[in-house]
Amino acid sequence: MKALIDSYSRQIRYVRVSVTDRCNLRCRYCMPEEGVDWLEHDSIMHYEELLRVITSFASSGVEKIRITGGEPLVRKGLCDFIKCIRRIESIKDLSLTTNGVLLTQMAQELRHSGLDRVNISLDTLDRDKFAYITRVDAFEKVYRGIQSALEEHLAPVKINVVAIKGFNDDEIPAFASLTLETPLEVRFIELMPMGCAARFGPLNIIQAHEIRQIIEDRFGALDPVEYGLGPAKVYRIPGAAGKIGLIDPLSERSFCSRCNRVRITADGHLRPCLFSTEQIDLLGPLRQGISDQELAELIEKGVLTKPSSGGICKGRDACALQSCASQMSEIGG
Ligand code: SAM
Ligand code: SF4
Repeated sequence: MKALIDSYSRQIRYVRVSVTDRCNLRCRYCMPEEGVDWLEHDSIMHYEELLRVITSFASSGVEKIRITGGEPLVRKGLCDFIKCIRRIESIKDLSLTTNGVLLTQMAQELRHSGLDRVNISLDTLDRDKFAYITRVDAFEKVYRGIQSALEEHLAPVKINVVAIKGFNDDEIPAFASLTLETPLEVRFIELMPMGCAARFGPLNIIQAHEIRQIIEDRFGALDPVEYGLGPAKVYRIPGAAGKIGLIDPLSERSFCSRCNRVRITADGHLRPCLFSTEQIDLLGPLRQGISDQELAELIEKGVLTKPSSGGICKGRDACALQSCASQMSEIGG
């Protein structure tokens, strides 16, 4: 097996696959109210095409696949797709990121299809604030979705909270306290000012160290927890059932040097870096009948274009991404 190593000696072990650009919410930092120009049905990768790409990655040492979107649960046939990925033996970790709106009705089928775990995005514990930030009144559905994921042991169940000063910084202790009794991992993500999120100014950014300070002021010193190859630094409130993760693409200089992932967009492009608009078309060549060997070579070539870092300004001066027109919903977060 030939491993996928980029030009900076980082081995790619993790692929995030966006199965749709569509979504049933309109989070203000991710998507305009009217949605985006949705991809034509034909320009979305078919599941069979995605499977060829995933199989190719799997034979080059990728063990971790995350399904994302847009909102992945709105795409028909998702559970059958998950069953097919599950049959690829070398995929050890199969997860999904969802807004949770459809999770209550789908959690059991997802589990039976072979999904290992879910990340659920939830930025506030207040129904009105939820309706404001997502532009849809669906807080209860998401909250029930989290319970369903716990009941189905889609574990560890992780909650993604995009931290936005002036919107949910006052809720950081409440989110942290969810981990006291429940085996959830609450992950605070620094707001990335790209696409739609450029509407939020630098003053809306809370850096990971500030989030940690807010939590420690309330609960005392956090215990660091050994974390694997993921993007989060993980901690625990002493004695808590769950964990707290901090994802710091803006403030942590080593974030990019630790990056071990690439993305596949819903329209079949290999995106080596979230923060770069460079991408390699896989769908065109696939539909022109490329062989497995040629596909593997194309992926390898794409991985070699992964930049050493996304070139984003760090900290509150984060600026370069504001000119990046791509919405997170198109790339998959
Ligand atoms: N619809 C699903 C969801 O919301 O979980 C999956 C796709 S969404 C693009 C993936 C993740 O990206 C979510 O956790 C979302 O909160 C996060 N995200 C979107 N825009 C972001 C931004 N500007 N900064 C930080 N995180 C962002
Ligand atoms: Fe949809 Fe997820 Fe973007 Fe919110 S963050 S608009 S749920 S894709």
